[in-house]
Amino acid sequence: MIRQFELVEKLKEYDPNTDEDMLNRAYVYSMKVHGAQKRASGDPYFSHPLEVAGILADLGLDCFSIVTALLHDTVEDTGTSIDDIEEMFGAEVAKLVDGVTKLSKLELQSEATKQAENFRKLLLAMSSDIRVILVKLADRLHNMRTLHHIKDITRRRRIARETMEIYVPLTERMGIHNLKDELEDLAFANLNPEARDSIANRLKFLKRNREDTVVEIIDKLKSTMDEADLSCEISGREKTPFSIWRKMQKNNITFEQLADVMAFRIVVKSVPECYQTLGIIHNQYLVVPHRFKDYISTPKPNKYQSLHTAIIGPQNHRIEIQIRTQEMHHIAEIGIAAHWKYKQEDGGIAHEGKQYAWLRGLLEILEQAADPEEFLENTKLEMFQDQVFCFTPKGELIGLPRGATAIDFAYAVHSEIGDKTIGAIINKKQMPLRTILKNGDQVEVLTSKKQNPSPTWERFVVTGKARSRIRRFIRSQRREQFCDLGRSLAVKVFKQANVSYSEKVLQSVLKKYKAQSVDDLFAMVGEGLVSAESILSSVYPNHDQQQVVNESILENKEKPKKSPMSIKGLIPGMAVHYAGCCHPLPGDSIVGIIVTGRGVTVHISDCEVITQFNQPERLLDLSWEEEISEKHVGRLQMTFLNQKGSLANVTATVSKHNGNIVNLKITNRATDFWDIYIDVEVESVEHLNNIVAALRTVSIINAVYRD
Ligand code: MN
Repeated sequence: MIRQFELVEKLKEYDPNTDEDMLNRAYVYSMKVHGAQKRASGDPYFSHPLEVAGILADLGLDCFSIVTALLHDTVEDTGTSIDDIEEMFGAEVAKLVDGVTKLSKLELQSEATKQAENFRKLLLAMSSDIRVILVKLADRLHNMRTLHHIKDITRRRRIARETMEIYVPLTERMGIHNLKDELEDLAFANLNPEARDSIANRLKFLKRNREDTVVEIIDKLKSTMDEADLSCEISGREKTPFSIWRKMQKNNITFEQLADVMAFRIVVKSVPECYQTLGIIHNQYLVVPHRFKDYISTPKPNKYQSLHTAIIGPQNHRIEIQIRTQEMHHIAEIGIAAHWKYKQEDGGIAHEGKQYAWLRGLLEILEQAADPEEFLENTKLEMFQDQVFCFTPKGELIGLPRGATAIDFAYAVHSEIGDKTIGAIINKKQMPLRTILKNGDQVEVLTSKKQNPSPTWERFVVTGKARSRIRRFIRSQRREQFCDLGRSLAVKVFKQANVSYSEKVLQSVLKKYKAQSVDDLFAMVGEGLVSAESILSSVYPNHDQQQVVNESILENKEKPKKSPMSIKGLIPGMAVHYAGCCHPLPGDSIVGIIVTGRGVTVHISDCEVITQFNQPERLLDLSWEEEISEKHVGRLQMTFLNQKGSLANVTATVSKHNGNIVNLKITNRATDFWDIYIDVEVESVEHLNNIVAALRTVSIINAVYRD
């Protein structure tokens, strides 16, 4: 176990300005609160945070990270609160400890291994700071090192699998190869102990036989380099059992066939020297075909740079060679963690080479970012910033674009579920469907067989899947309405003309209108694409159409629903209807549609019926008279919690604001929420908007909008 002064010395070595006092206080505090707690190994619990701190010190992380490591389990496992941490160690440490604690809680939920990829992204997205993830990785590494102390083999394997599927790829993506190799090997040892043991034993045997071989090869390579007058450092290493195992699996070869279990690394001073070295090696030895890779000109996404090649080396051993500079080597070993080191060494400006632009970028962001969010936005983690990940009650992870709501979630789970959604419980609390989801939210979707998609949902969904399902439903519903309207128009026109009507007689003209069915034809009439009169004259070509139109206007004139007096631009004598789809009110900009046989229907000018209407000759520009004394009816849709007195609360609020409810309909009565619409008599749009605003302040009401 690393001792207190050793840890402090280690930090001071790479950061002379380290906050020694804070380190010491964190050490003492953690030891005190973990007290008599024990690890599975029987060691005092405190040895764990201390080892985690040691791992991070080896990576050269800053003092805040080390202090966080010492304290990382205090909130989860002792009585300490984040506020306590903040009081003792300041806001930055508190923020980091809080981040690590959140990840630990999240970890408990990770069960579905199929979701490893999403879970990794979630971990990254939830780490407000790269250091949080680094502490978590070091934590995992120490837990893996001590995993053999856990007796329960099923649990051990579960943890190992999680490590292999979640943490190994994370370390790889962050370029921290030191951690990656060790985590991978430890996980391998627990997942497939037989395979690992046999490879390790074989390696041990080979090593005995060729201890000298490695040294000899290094010597040979070294003298080749000396001849070219290039100074370098050469090291030889064995591949890890896991990487050998993977290669054996991938290439369907046995261990004996696997020649290059040895890899050598040549570290030189500059990029030109890397290529020079490559030339020398290729010139001197036989090159194994198809093995050369240039990761210097094309670095890996995690910034790894190196030249890779394989040769038939000294003593006819097939060996792998990596050529790189010191800096590349450093990044290869500790990846993203490297930038703290560079920061301390040279204030981040010494490494002016283009290849370090990303490091400098990270440092600058770290120093200048106003908050962790901004830092996160700008670092490598940004690739997950446009997504959120939420859990189903069973722990399945659903990935959604940022801004997605509970409705999007429901559709992502299943289209049928989306269609039937009536409510959402987010983190055990009932929330409106339009709630924007956050990372890690647990969402339970409530459904009802009676529910149908609401057109208003379209306003707050962001996923294409949800939107297209909702639209599809609206389209089919609108068709139904058009169909009904068309049928009644046709019946009426035929009746007025005093000719016999049946759906059968219409069959004869279907072709003429390119309609598939009678319903299709009705829908065309309802939508205004075809007039009922035109159908009448198609069926009975000798009929006098003009007469019908006049009669129908006269008929309507006798009992107009509303006084036309408050609207300018009408044709005198024509009946006026207010459209049921948009319920226009004084103050709205309005347009009329002349519907033969019905008079004028008044719509709000951006009502969908208007924007999709393609017969401009039937449109009337209308406006409201300035002085309007009469009341108009507006329609409000709302959703409220089904509680005792809810409905009374709604009506009381409306009348308190001088609205007169003339009609009320419950459109969806689920056990939790009710959807209703009310028709309210108001003076103007402004008046209605006041009422909407007032209703939105009522706590039981989830949503109110003008229909
Ligand atoms: Mn821990």
